[in-house]
Amino acid sequence: MKEQLKELETEALEKVQLAEDTKALQDVRVAYLGKKGPITEVLRGMGRLSKEERPVIGQLANEVREHIQDAIDSKQNSLEEAALDKQLEEEKLDVTLPGRPVQVGGPHLLTNILEEIEDLFIGMGFEIKEGPEVETDYYNFEALNLPKGHPARDMQDSFYITEELLLRTHTSPVQARTMKQKDGEPVRMICPGKVYRRDTDDATHSHQFTQVEGLLVDKNVRMSDLKGVLNTFAKQMFGSERDIRLRPSFFPFTEPSVEMDISCKVCDGKGCSVCKGTGWIEILGAGMVHPNVLEMAGYDPDVYSGFAFGMGPERIAMLKYGVDDIRHFYTNDIRFLKQYHKV
Ligand SMILES: [Zn+2]
Repeated sequence: MKEQLKELETEALEKVQLAEDTKALQDVRVAYLGKKGPITEVLRGMGRLSKEERPVIGQLANEVREHIQDAIDSKQNSLEEAALDKQLEEEKLDVTLPGRPVQVGGPHLLTNILEEIEDLFIGMGFEIKEGPEVETDYYNFEALNLPKGHPARDMQDSFYITEELLLRTHTSPVQARTMKQKDGEPVRMICPGKVYRRDTDDATHSHQFTQVEGLLVDKNVRMSDLKGVLNTFAKQMFGSERDIRLRPSFFPFTEPSVEMDISCKVCDGKGCSVCKGTGWIEILGAGMVHPNVLEMAGYDPDVYSGFAFGMGPERIAMLKYGVDDIRHFYTNDIRFLKQYHKV
């Protein structure tokens, strides 16, 4: 029986050495050390042995088993190492090859303009406010002196979601919300954001665009304060040599209402095709907050007054950088956008 075990050991160790992969090695393990293997078989036959022989053969069988197991383990390790070497060889890379350049992105032109406008007004003590793009009919229209059925609602074709919910047509609802929040306290804020109108897209119209509106409410606010703020804005945005002028206009939420022009940069006010010969270019709408709007927001119009203004960052960017089509901002042509990346 001793010889039988020794032979099995030699045979198994040879097969272990011959195994070419882990699958073959596993087969050897099952064949020799498995429950149905010859060593188990030998151990089962030990009952027939004498008392003296039993411990000797038992020990030997265990030794043989251990030898085979050790051989399998070390073979397994060397197979794994070989596989790793092969993988490293296959995945070898040439670190001296030149790298592929990384494409560097940058903020969108509109983002830059919005930030410029924000910085400018923060410098004048205004705070930045934001509000929901899906707005209630109340805040979008009613709280701004536009009750249901008001003809001026037609000025802004809207995307309604339900009877009472719509995509906001301007950022003015943020002003109404802020006034309610302030609960009678003075307000000095601008609200930049996206707005939506049912417009057919062309060179100057887009169904989605951005707006920046501003609002200042306090005691003794006058039209001259509005003019001072707008003048500061225009000169910082377009250059100190620009003049401004205010023309009477109409907006339902302000009274009186004005539109602000700046002197044309292209012809310096002499008249050209950009300013259609007038020497002036329209920039924004503004006015003194309508007493009804103040009252609805909880301010006593006899004590408080205020001004509001609204501008289109797209229009400002178009004038400032000579962009001729509003669609450039939204069609994401990388050649257009790249020109305005700040380095
Ligand atoms: Zn001009």
